[in-house]
Amino acid sequence: MLYVSTRGGCEPVTASKAILEGIASDGGLYTPSEIPKISEELLKKLCKADYCGRAAEILSLFLTDYTREELERSVKSAYADFDHPEKAPLVKLDEGKYVLELFHGPTCAFKDMALQLLPYLMTLAIRKNGGDDRICILVATSGDTGKAALEGFKDVEGTSIIVFYPRDGVSAVQRRQMTTQKGENVFVCAVKGNFDDAQTGVKTIFGDADFASELAAKGVRLSSANSINWGRLVPQIVYYVSAYCDLVNSGEVEIGETVDVSVPTGNFGDILAAFYAMRMGVPIGRLICASNKNNVLTDFINTGVYDSNRPFFLTSSPSMDILISSNVERLLFELSGHDGEGTARYMKALKSEGKYTLAPELFASMKEIFAAGCADDDEVITEIRHNKLELGYLTDPHTAVASKVARELCGDPVCLIVSTASPYKFCGTVLKALTNEDQPDSVTLFEKLETLTDTAAPKPLKDVVNAKERFNGVTEKSELKSEVRRFIDSQTGGR
Ligand SMILES: *Cc1c(COP(=O)(O)O)cnc(C)c1O
Repeated sequence: MLYVSTRGGCEPVTASKAILEGIASDGGLYTPSEIPKISEELLKKLCKADYCGRAAEILSLFLTDYTREELERSVKSAYADFDHPEKAPLVKLDEGKYVLELFHGPTCAFKDMALQLLPYLMTLAIRKNGGDDRICILVATSGDTGKAALEGFKDVEGTSIIVFYPRDGVSAVQRRQMTTQKGENVFVCAVKGNFDDAQTGVKTIFGDADFASELAAKGVRLSSANSINWGRLVPQIVYYVSAYCDLVNSGEVEIGETVDVSVPTGNFGDILAAFYAMRMGVPIGRLICASNKNNVLTDFINTGVYDSNRPFFLTSSPSMDILISSNVERLLFELSGHDGEGTARYMKALKSEGKYTLAPELFASMKEIFAAGCADDDEVITEIRHNKLELGYLTDPHTAVASKVARELCGDPVCLIVSTASPYKFCGTVLKALTNEDQPDSVTLFEKLETLTDTAAPKPLKDVVNAKERFNGVTEKSELKSEVRRFIDSQTGGR
């Protein structure tokens, strides 16, 4: 299987090359040239496998220039340290409602599902493409990606990693998780601005051909661990397939019965993975796109107009505080039957006007598959309280957005609510919901939540409280490139 750019301006490449490059040279995103199908027979086989077995099987359908053995080994190592034997367990919340918990990895957010695996795929990709360049991973993060990427890539031979996060856009715990990061090949820096500023800055660096040549002369090549990298998306398809298998195995659905999926959405990566699972043949009824107060996607799905010209809000679900959701580009490309020119036109309009309007056929096909809703911070508080008091389940603010929107929009008898973070990652909001008292945004609230709910904070989160801070730099958004240059020179000895 080959990968093509969503903007149609590049030669098709192998999976490993798509993963290595991160983004296509025409500015588009690499997308599989066709979507492999899961037959009923294969689905039955997957139902009998464990999570790692399911993952190796799904990955092998997409990553055809990796051997089965390489994939099996990578998957086993990637998920070895998860604190739950099922890796992505389903928890029954209520009649016909299941939470798909994706936060059992080392950073307690769903990004681990992909970012624990990506370094293995990346180092194999370096070997397969015969290069000996050092790969420098460049990340813009709204909070969780940065830490998950740092944990995944720390001290991985042949790589360095640089993370930029918005100074005022991450929680105290998220910041501390990043600024205390260990490893010799890592660099973390705050940016004056919001997530979109950081992401735009990073995208500009990726598109800077002169800078690429300058780095090439130093034996360094940039790549991305943001969800624009196909290697981030493909591991996420797995848990939708796996969750469906778990529902079949528990007798909740029979093979072929559809389930709705509600996804707390930011950059549109997680829900796009659900879209691919659906296109592969997993019986998904509707994809419910749940947004916080930054509800650009709610309006887009309901009206066909993507309009990022609106105020940006900092919310209690910071990993979803995004106005430009990169992976929508892949959706447009898929829905339009791989119309690269059309997709490029929309993206150009988005860049110049901050806005575009979908052609009626595209809008219609999107409406058939997606539903969308949003929840503001007050509704999130109400939802967290409801889930704890009525259903006995502790919900983080991101998951609460999906849970609230699911309650409004789920049509199928069975609904999956995707849970993307441990409630302990956002103690302040969770405590506020349970106690009605405002809480300081601080890293020391774990104990209070532990006592109140008689649950235990995940160990990796407790560890950051006492860890030593290594990175306290802040930079202007215009200065990202010089920060990158400086760090790369320090890693390569200025060669
Ligand atoms: C990244 C993230 C999201 C949003 O996922 P996308 O793939 O960007 O849509 C939601 N919740 C949490 C906790 C996250 O870290």
